Amino acid sequence: MELDVNLAALWRQARRVSEDIVPFDWTASVVLDPIDIQLSQGKEVQLDDLDVVNGLLSVEGRQVLLFIPDQHAAVDIVQASPEKGKRFHVADCKTLQEMRAKGRFQRYLATNKLDGMFLITGNDSSGRYREVESELRVCMNCLEAVNYRDYAHHSHGRERRGIWTNFEIAEFFNTFSTSFRYLPRNIAPRPGSGTYTDDWAKISADIRSRCGFRCDDCGLDLSAHRNLLHVHHVNGVKSDNSAGNLRPLCADCHRKQPFHERMFVNAKDMAIITRLRNAQRLVGSDWGSVLKLADLSVHGAISHARHRGFEPPEIGYEFAGKDQTVIAEVEAAWPARKIAICIAEKPGIPGWTMLSGAEFMERY
Ligand SMILES: [Zn+2]
Ligand SMILES: [Zn+2]
Ligand SMILES: [Zn+2]
Repeated sequence: MELDVNLAALWRQARRVSEDIVPFDWTASVVLDPIDIQLSQGKEVQLDDLDVVNGLLSVEGRQVLLFIPDQHAAVDIVQASPEKGKRFHVADCKTLQEMRAKGRFQRYLATNKLDGMFLITGNDSSGRYREVESELRVCMNCLEAVNYRDYAHHSHGRERRGIWTNFEIAEFFNTFSTSFRYLPRNIAPRPGSGTYTDDWAKISADIRSRCGFRCDDCGLDLSAHRNLLHVHHVNGVKSDNSAGNLRPLCADCHRKQPFHERMFVNAKDMAIITRLRNAQRLVGSDWGSVLKLADLSVHGAISHARHRGFEPPEIGYEFAGKDQTVIAEVEAAWPARKIAICIAEKPGIPGWTMLSGAEFMERY
C-alpha cells in the first residue's frame, strides 16, 4: 500500500482545528511518528503484543482498534452489508480473551484510523480474490466490556442495537483520549468545518477576555489557564461570528458538543480542568453533576457503579501526604469504601483498592 500523507493538506487541517483553540501547539498535531504512519495503514500484531490500558487496546501508547482483513463472507457482500463482515475490536473483550486463552491464531491488524473504512480481503461472489475498502461493525462484547454509553445496562435490545449501529470510531477515541499517552492523529478530513474569518484570532481573544475567561457551560474560571478556554461556534459555521453564535467553553465542555468527536483532550489538560473545578467547587455531589463533569474515560465505570448501588464518587480525588501536599490523584474515588478508579497509574496508598474502569466493572 502506498503512503499517502499530504503535508500541505495536513497543515491546513491543523490550522483549521487549531484556531478554535488559541494558543496551540503546532508541532504536536503535525509531526507523525513512524508508528503513527504504520498504524494508519494497519500494523500486523499478535494479541500478546497489545497493551491493555483502562480495558482498551493500545500499541506504543496509542489507542488502536483491531480487525481481521480476511473475511468469510464474499467481500462485495460485506461492502454492501457491513454487518456480514467480521467485527472489529476496540477493547480487551471476552472474544479476544478467549482467543488468547485458546492460543488461536488470526491475522490481526491494529489501526488508529478514525474514518471507519478497512482494507479487507477475500473472494467476491464470483469467486475472484480481491482487496477492497469496506466498513465493518464493532464487536458487541467490546461495548459491553467498557460499558460504552451504558451499553451493558440497557435491558432493551433496541437501545443496545442503537448504541451499536450508531457507533463511531472518532467518538469512541474522543471518549477515551485521556487514557493514552498520545492523542489520535487527526489526519482524516474533518467534514463540514468551513473556514475561519481572518480576524478570528482577535474576535476569539475579545470574547474570552469579556467573559472573564469563564466557561459558559460548567462555569469554570480559566484565567490562570487561558489556553484551555476555547470559543465555540454554536451553529457549526466557522465564518458566522455573530454574538449569539459564539460561546466560550472549556476544552472539556467543548469536546462534548455535537460534531466535535475529533476534538481530543489529553490527560494533563483534563487533570488541570478537574483540579480547578474542584478548587472552584463546581462539582456537585449528585449523580447528574458527577456524570457531567467526570472524565469521559471513567464514565462507563461510574455509570456501572450507579447501577450497582454505589453512592456518587468524588471526582479528581486527591491524596495528601504528611505535610498536606498532594501526593497522588485519582479520577474517581469512594473514600468511605477506600475504592478508587484510576486511568493510567495506580498510586500505592495503603488500605485502598485501586482499579482501572474495566477492573472495577469485573469486580463489582
Ligand atoms: Zn471485542
Ligand atoms: Zn466547561
Ligand atoms: Zn466548537
